[in-house]
Amino acid sequence: MPFPVIRPRRLRANPAMRRLVRETVLAVDDLLYPVFVTYGRDVRKPVEAMPGVYNFSVDTLLEELGPVNELGIPGIMLFGIPETKDELAGGAYDDEGVVQQAIRAVKEEFPDLLVITDVCLCEYTSHGHCGVIKNGCVLNDPTLDLLARTALSHARAGADMVAPSDMMDGRVAAIRRALDEHGYQNVPIMAYAAKYASAYYGPFREAASSAPQFGDRRSYQMDPPNAREALREVRLDIDEGADIVMVKPALAYLDVIQRVRQAFDHPLAAYNVSGEYAMVKAAAQKGWIDERRVVLETLTGIKRAGAEIILTYHAPDAARWLQEGE
Ligand SMILES: [Zn+2]
Repeated sequence: MPFPVIRPRRLRANPAMRRLVRETVLAVDDLLYPVFVTYGRDVRKPVEAMPGVYNFSVDTLLEELGPVNELGIPGIMLFGIPETKDELAGGAYDDEGVVQQAIRAVKEEFPDLLVITDVCLCEYTSHGHCGVIKNGCVLNDPTLDLLARTALSHARAGADMVAPSDMMDGRVAAIRRALDEHGYQNVPIMAYAAKYASAYYGPFREAASSAPQFGDRRSYQMDPPNAREALREVRLDIDEGADIVMVKPALAYLDVIQRVRQAFDHPLAAYNVSGEYAMVKAAAQKGWIDERRVVLETLTGIKRAGAEIILTYHAPDAARWLQEGE
């Protein structure tokens, strides 16, 4: 065979040719935008380690979401920061809680924007753990009741989907049962199925004031070295009724995303977490990287690994850049 017959560069010659043979195309439709809502009015409190991310009160959140909705981003993931916290996370399942108020306001203002709610207790507990504490341990089964009440309260307020992130065993089944018993059969569950005990959550804990007051979350979140275990976690959540499964974080777990994609047919989400965002922002602020190219390359990589849904704080910027084209 005369050298070289095969020249891969032929298909890279110009933008149109590259577009024609492109295997993975990132789209606005792939993005979900996580937002933090808190009590009060006219609040727009910057999260220091996440430039461009704020704690909003309900009124300013609506202002923030106008452009997000215009950009065609399909939905938001809502996190709440309550005024007061207690042992049993009362604010999480209070029908007048911050998240519940925000759901109603957002659905009224933007009926077509999907409002997905994070279902967990850590933002609402005085100890910062995701469940009920006894003798320094997070109790699994008593926590399920509170998670189910929280999800139900979100559904009652009008949430389009609930997303349990606590990593208690059996919580998807408990939430599914509670929703079904109260007439919310059509509210889907997006389960944080493989959520790792990751150092990449650091900036989020500032954003949500949810750092554990003692110990850490390693007795319930997954151990970072494990991938086969992630497949078991995903299978359990699917068996319990999860409609969408998630891997979190994304970048250090692209192999897990790929393995879940290969093993299951369910829609798969990946969470491009706060630490991943903060690193890009910090390097961009120093002028060390091209933020736009790095963000789009990262999100495309997450999609190429197998996630068709990407939760990312970059969502509005990414949507704008995708709209502008190359
Ligand atoms: Zn939690």
